[in-house]
Amino acid sequence: MKTLVLDYDDYHWQSPENCLDTVKEMISRVPEIKISLFTPSLYHGKPLEADWAWCEETRELIKAGRIVLAVHGTEHETSEYENIDEAEAREKLLTAEKMFMNADLPFVRAFKAPHWQIGEGTMKALRRLGYSHAYLHEDTKHLMELETPVRRVFYNWNLLDAAPPEDVDVIIGHGHTHDVCGNGIAQTMERVLQFVEKSSDIQFAFVHEVTGNVV
Ligand SMILES: [Zn+2]
Repeated sequence: MKTLVLDYDDYHWQSPENCLDTVKEMISRVPEIKISLFTPSLYHGKPLEADWAWCEETRELIKAGRIVLAVHGTEHETSEYENIDEAEAREKLLTAEKMFMNADLPFVRAFKAPHWQIGEGTMKALRRLGYSHAYLHEDTKHLMELETPVRRVFYNWNLLDAAPPEDVDVIIGHGHTHDVCGNGIAQTMERVLQFVEKSSDIQFAFVHEVTGNVV
């Protein structure tokens, strides 16, 4: 049995990051699918709650168990979570969490830094705030040496590639909610669904359900 995690960055009501229609289409075609959406909750300074109808639709999909929102920075600025100490990272994370709460949107404590730019101060803050997972890029592989219970996960299927490597049991599929370098959710949807349809032994997992580190 293989586990498939599908994670997409930059979920928001703004355009072009709003991918609700594609998410709903994927759910209609694969009812048991699980889609994890890394969400910058104050993207470019705009809070989630500013589009309440979008929040309501999002909330329904969360309640139905088909999507989760995970934390993808705060304003999504360059180096937002990179060269800062634990105290500053903690403040930023708490601001990000408050935005989810203001929008009445449940979220899971899995984190991916904007532009993958993350430092040790942020890793320490994640631990203190009870985050279970940090999603990392191979550029930050040195963080595997850090003593921390926060699970570190690296993607192994960039969704712009034809198929995941065959020798992995836990497939971490990574894309975007919009067209970034060709791995947007709409651009890669048919490829992902075809892979799911032709695989007989797939189970879905959300980003916070991955067990162990995935390197
Ligand atoms: Zn991003």
